[in-house]
Amino acid sequence: MSELNLILTGPPGAGKGTQAQRLVKRCGIPQIATGDMLRAAVASGSELGRSIRDILGGGELVPDEIVIALVRERLSAQDARAGFILDGFPRTSQQARELEALLAETGHERLRVICLEVPEEELVRRILSRGEGRADDTEETVRKRLEVYRRDTAPMLEHFADSVVRLDGTGSLDEIEQRIAEALDLS
Ligand code: AMP
Repeated sequence: MSELNLILTGPPGAGKGTQAQRLVKRCGIPQIATGDMLRAAVASGSELGRSIRDILGGGELVPDEIVIALVRERLSAQDARAGFILDGFPRTSQQARELEALLAETGHERLRVICLEVPEEELVRRILSRGEGRADDTEETVRKRLEVYRRDTAPMLEHFADSVVRLDGTGSLDEIEQRIAEALDLS
């Protein structure tokens, strides 16, 4: 199978992480989830973690330079050479431009982009009921994260206007996985 370089995007609560994990099993390529990487930094109590803790807690975006540096480092690892699933990155136009430059440098094949779409009230309901204990899963912060998505991330998708495939992110997990597999021509 040819290299799969995928951006899995969509609003918070759309199911990106869950579907990314299914694709990891199916395709044997790594999930690169910037939210997980940033939460790990916060949990470790590192200097980076301390500097971004309040940003995550407030539902705002971490500065582009920080996130881009993390992704640059992660994409250079051996296991990402045969493909990767980016979950939660890029989230701004600047991140999208930097990603494309980075991939051109490293000779990766074209990017595929899938956006999972779910009505806003269902997103809020899903997040508030998922019980993962995330500090940013309160109603106030969820509303903020949705606003940030509309403000920064939805416009970022203009960058991929020619390639983005928008899929219905509602229904059972198997149904959603099937839609993604069909869109990507996975057997
Ligand atoms: P997520 O797990 O993808 O919902 O991300 C959780 C939080 O991490 C977000 O609300 C942001 O504060 C931060 N974050 C994750 N990915 C990015 C990114 N690509 N750019 C900026 N901030 C990010």
